[in-house]
Amino acid sequence: MKQVSFLMTVVLVMLLISCTPTRKKEYASFDEYPVPNGDLTEMEYTVHSTTFSLWAPTADEVRLMLFDSGHEGHEYQTVPMEPADDGTWKATVEKNLLGKFYTFNVKINDKWQGDTPGINAKAVGINGKRAAIIDMRMTDPEGWNTEVKPAFKSPADVVIYEMHHRDLSVHFSSGIKNKGKFIALTERGTKTPDSLSTTGLDHLIDLGITHVHLLPSFDYASIDESKLKDKKYNWGYDPLNYNVPEGSYATDPFTPSSRIREFKKMVMALHKAGIRVIMDVVYNHVNDLESSNFERTAPGYFFRKKKDGSWANGSACGNETASERPMMRKYMIESVLYWMKEYHVDGFRFDLMGIHDIETMNEIRKAVNAADPSIIIYGEGWAAEAPQLPADSLAMKANTQRMPGIAAFSDEMRDGLRGPFNNNHKGAFLAGIPGGEQSIKFGIVGAVKHPQVHLDSVNYTKIAWAGEPTQMISYVSCHDDMCLVDRLQASVPGITPKQLVLLDKLAQTAVFTSQGIPFIYAGEEIMRDKKGVHNSFESPDSINAIDWRLKALHADVFAYYKGLIALRKAHPAFRMGKAEMVRKHLEFLPVDGSNVIAFRLKGHANGDACQDLIVILNARTQMSKVTVPAAKYTVFCKDGFVSVDGSLGTLYGPEVYVAPQTALIMGSY
Ligand code: CA
Repeated sequence: MKQVSFLMTVVLVMLLISCTPTRKKEYASFDEYPVPNGDLTEMEYTVHSTTFSLWAPTADEVRLMLFDSGHEGHEYQTVPMEPADDGTWKATVEKNLLGKFYTFNVKINDKWQGDTPGINAKAVGINGKRAAIIDMRMTDPEGWNTEVKPAFKSPADVVIYEMHHRDLSVHFSSGIKNKGKFIALTERGTKTPDSLSTTGLDHLIDLGITHVHLLPSFDYASIDESKLKDKKYNWGYDPLNYNVPEGSYATDPFTPSSRIREFKKMVMALHKAGIRVIMDVVYNHVNDLESSNFERTAPGYFFRKKKDGSWANGSACGNETASERPMMRKYMIESVLYWMKEYHVDGFRFDLMGIHDIETMNEIRKAVNAADPSIIIYGEGWAAEAPQLPADSLAMKANTQRMPGIAAFSDEMRDGLRGPFNNNHKGAFLAGIPGGEQSIKFGIVGAVKHPQVHLDSVNYTKIAWAGEPTQMISYVSCHDDMCLVDRLQASVPGITPKQLVLLDKLAQTAVFTSQGIPFIYAGEEIMRDKKGVHNSFESPDSINAIDWRLKALHADVFAYYKGLIALRKAHPAFRMGKAEMVRKHLEFLPVDGSNVIAFRLKGHANGDACQDLIVILNARTQMSKVTVPAAKYTVFCKDGFVSVDGSLGTLYGPEVYVAPQTALIMGSY
């Protein structure tokens, strides 16, 4: 009997232990943290019950709090969660919770970490503090399930337009009703007050771009969504909830479904207009480490530290995430797939991609390919400060060849054209200063190995870092630092208004005739400026907004950009897509002296109708004479005008003259 009673006591104690939610074990290192199978869904709603799950492997206790409101009042119910073997904590509430809100709180070593909507909220209340229980299917606009993405053949065909929601529509001249909102991009027929120019979506269609690249559109921290009357501006590089659209771009940020439905409406309208959608994703850092959802669920795990134990800061924004850790990697992969599946997003631009490790980026590419290989991926192949991993393991520009299907921005070409990032007043090729030629040639071939590009003379990277030309983004300006007009004014002493227009056109001619993927910053096509502000990340609308009245003033500039895009589309030689083909068909022509670059795309490159296409970029303030193969040429671009149909006349080789600060493009048949 004694024996039996002892056994019963043991069983009772064991039962008690298993009923008390406690942390299962201590972990010697992050490597030992269990990684759950399946996806990281934290809330699954049905009419009858809602199941919650949170990965918090070091927690002693986890609570779920339920609220009636997204921002007001205390919780109406607290639910203790139960630990599972895979590091997650679970709870099921057998009620219809539709319309309620929730947070988690995690206790570790007797310390409650603070309320968090979890790391994977899909809907939130105002300012992203509480997660919302909604039925995602109720957020689908009509026709969502049958909507079709615009056709996509090759990344070589892509033309990217980088834009901020507020910039594009907030100016009174946009004629757009939903200013600064996602659904501004659903409005058709919008015009300037004088009816002279189309704006917004109609403008994008007219311009001919294939992809819009949206500056951060996930939920970020810096704008108080409850005070939108303040008209505060931010680029949004301060992530809060990675898998929810930003509330300030919704017409009703208090209602969780509003931002979700309106984001989808935007994607749908763009797709219908033949334009694909790229999101700027910022997994490399969070807004504030200590109060972040990551840190409140698994302290320390999601962020790198320096050797001295302090937080690493490769982003220069206060922290640096740890993509190499299995849960962070899993999180990033899942997040990208989620935006593709739930929001039909077509591409991703990785902010400070050089902070992430190569393996993670390749895993993302692999997972994306399995779902849809037409999704494009590119990023900034650098970091703001040296990250805490060996340089050869990071997704830095120099390692691009080890990341097939992923592209990086070429600062070589950008700065070869207009001068370095860290000095607004230093010009280069466009300013008539010699020395940028090899860096621009590097960009023209798409950063691939080419016998005529002398890598020793290229400004930054001394290696041909792209395996294929579509692994290079070709650009001269983006949201960062000065826009093109401001930069030219700052770096070309004594520039006249006429020269400003000429050099603006010449700069983008290099971009659009490059074998890399061309990329322009919104408004460059109508000469937008930012009043000389280098870093406009929180500047007011008076700096950042696009004044659409410029379009009529600079109709010739718009026509030129539009013409360059049309020319690129009409001639496959400009978008060969393959390094082998570029080496075979792209030949630089000899020129005397500096500040002139001439090349030909020869032998019906990539099936082009033209036998030879000749491109000459003349940044000199004098007319330049260039020797080309003797032939009769149809002129496509001359003296600051572009014409795809050859209405600019004909020229004959072997000697041609190119006017000061202009480009000449012509083809022989
Ligand atoms: Ca927000």
